Amino acid sequence: MQKPLVIAIDGPAGAGKSTLGALLANRLGYLYFDTGVMYRALTLAALQSGIDLAASDAVERLAQQIVIEVIPPSADDGRQYTVLADGTDVTWAIRSPEVECGVSTVARYPGVRREMIRQQQAIGHRNRVVMVGRDIGTVVMPDAALKIYLEATLDERARRRADEREHHDDSRPLDEIRSAMALRDTMDQHVLRPADDAVILKNDGLSPEAEVNWIIDFIGRSGSGEAHSLIPPR
Ligand code: C5P
Repeated sequence: MQKPLVIAIDGPAGAGKSTLGALLANRLGYLYFDTGVMYRALTLAALQSGIDLAASDAVERLAQQIVIEVIPPSADDGRQYTVLADGTDVTWAIRSPEVECGVSTVARYPGVRREMIRQQQAIGHRNRVVMVGRDIGTVVMPDAALKIYLEATLDERARRRADEREHHDDSRPLDEIRSAMALRDTMDQHVLRPADDAVILKNDGLSPEAEVNWIIDFIGRSGSGEAHSLIPPR
């Protein structure tokens, strides 16, 4: 396989998409774009404007108006990028439990998805990019030359999210994080499925570095026409 222009990484919450996506983009010299931040920034803006998240019309209208930008990190505080919503830095605020609770409701509205997907496709068509989300390989970038679908058990995913708590000002105990994640999995079912041509990686116990090395190797081996295994190293 020639270096693919677009690499799509999908999977459920906490599957390690962001860590893998950022590492892979860094190794390949590609842009890294995490589409989840767009749904999160919109949810935060709706909450801050006092919009009832159940009011689809109002949320869809806001999706048309809000300007969401993802730019290189503007502070050295562990962030991978800076997210601006109408010019305000919301990088950490979009990780709050309140946003996490409401985001799947917002992401279900057709008018919201249409607008977010339109913006994501514009980015995907202009850049060499590793794009991360739920529906990148199936809907946003169905022509992506490489599609990866990450899976891990709910326990492992909740543990990983709990380990990130200090950055997110999140004091929830592990079992609460686990139930919120299970609920989000259910709410996200409508978009959560691997593309038919996706490589499925089950990554419990696999380090992000091993995962990246495997993918780079996979790209190389696919190009040489050599038969390849879809089972990553343990
Ligand atoms: O990936 P992250 O957890 O930041 O995504 C937040 C939420 O945004 C998801 O739970 C899902 O509801 C929504 N989402 C989506 N499609 C994407 C990315 C995220 O529906 N491509």
